[in-house]
Amino acid sequence: RSDTTSGEFIVAGGGIGGIATALALARQGRKVRVLERAAELGEIGYGLQLGPNAYRMLEHMGVADQLKDRAFFPNNLVMIDAIDGRELTRMALGSDFQAKFGYPYSVIHRSDLHQMLLDAVRDMPGVSIETSKGVQGFTQNKDGVEVTCEDGSVYHGTALIGADGLKSRVRAALLDDGAPRVAGQVAYRGVVPMEEITDTTHADDVVLWVGPNLHMVQYRLRGGKVMNNVAVVENDDLRLGRTDTIGPDEMERIFAPCTENVRKNLGYVRKDRNWVLYDRDPKAGWSQGRATLLGDAAHPTLQYMAQGACMALEDAAVLANKITTVPSLDQALLDYEHARYLRTGRIQLTSRFFCGICHAVGGARDVRNSLVESRPKGSTFEIDWLYSGIEL
Ligand code: FAD
Repeated sequence: RSDTTSGEFIVAGGGIGGIATALALARQGRKVRVLERAAELGEIGYGLQLGPNAYRMLEHMGVADQLKDRAFFPNNLVMIDAIDGRELTRMALGSDFQAKFGYPYSVIHRSDLHQMLLDAVRDMPGVSIETSKGVQGFTQNKDGVEVTCEDGSVYHGTALIGADGLKSRVRAALLDDGAPRVAGQVAYRGVVPMEEITDTTHADDVVLWVGPNLHMVQYRLRGGKVMNNVAVVENDDLRLGRTDTIGPDEMERIFAPCTENVRKNLGYVRKDRNWVLYDRDPKAGWSQGRATLLGDAAHPTLQYMAQGACMALEDAAVLANKITTVPSLDQALLDYEHARYLRTGRIQLTSRFFCGICHAVGGARDVRNSLVESRPKGSTFEIDWLYSGIEL
């Protein structure tokens, strides 16, 4: 067992990564304190895709039954050209897929995933979760950390895990590597009742429409009762970091060449709020002494592989296992980073590559369509490395 059996682990951030970490640690008998900046715990009201690798982590954390109750299990991942409406490829998610990867592909409402993790952990012995506790800074010595919050309160722990997201304070203290990269894209989202959806051809699938500087994703949530819709666009203003010029009119302009069906789907996303997208290059060094990073704080990625939250779940499981099996805590945190760095870095870079494929313009679109259409039927070669088991 590690040298820290009695000490308390402090987790900065109570998002999916932070709460999953608390659960994974508590299941190993560790004391955990989560400090969340927001006044209330919760997630935004949209969907998440979870690859079989994430399902496995949730089973490992003892919440697979809760997931089964709340998730939707789509039949296929389908890619369609948004300009001419032609189906380019599909990946069946049925029995062959599940036999190959051991677990199903699911989609779930973010709040449902967050809530089921929270329900599983909040009453476990040794767990405390505090809100309105923004972590401001920390110091460390060989025995532990002293964490200071924005309200002046101070906590002592055996280690600090920074699960404080894209603009992580803990990362800034450890790596001092500036702001995340503006990816040059913005997302609009919306969830609507199924009754409002007029074209239900792909109602049981995850559909990805791809077009020049744009894509749209649709899948069902909450037992299939609602449809989750995401529209993403990029333009030169965004690429230059000017995020104030990309209102709904510009989105409509970029989507104008799309099929009538795709333009109709645009009506399902809300126009009053958008999300500017960011990522980072892979960067090592996020475990130092008694502090480490997890989830978006460690390796923020674009959503083109639908793996940011999945990686946070894997991080949580691997970190808890290293803490249990490696006798020195400093070494356990280093081993955790070592186990996670290249896999998460590959996802960061592959997601950018897939973005280029999805948003291809002109001749690049022709090449994309030709190559994607000639994928061997039933093949999963692009993601075999990802969905196959990781070492726990
Ligand atoms: P966050 O969710 O950002 O949580 C961080 C938490 O820390 C927040 O609660 C915040 O309030 C808190 N916090 C911040 N600063 C402090 C502080 N100083 N002190 C204390 N608390 C603090 N991933 C998938 O797996 N599948 C998908 O299909 C998918 N689709 C996506 C679609 C879009 C459009 C986007 C933008 C992302 C998508 N992702 C997807 C990625 C996924 O949303 C993130 O990777 C995931 O939510 C990261 O979780 P996290 O807990 O690391 O960070």
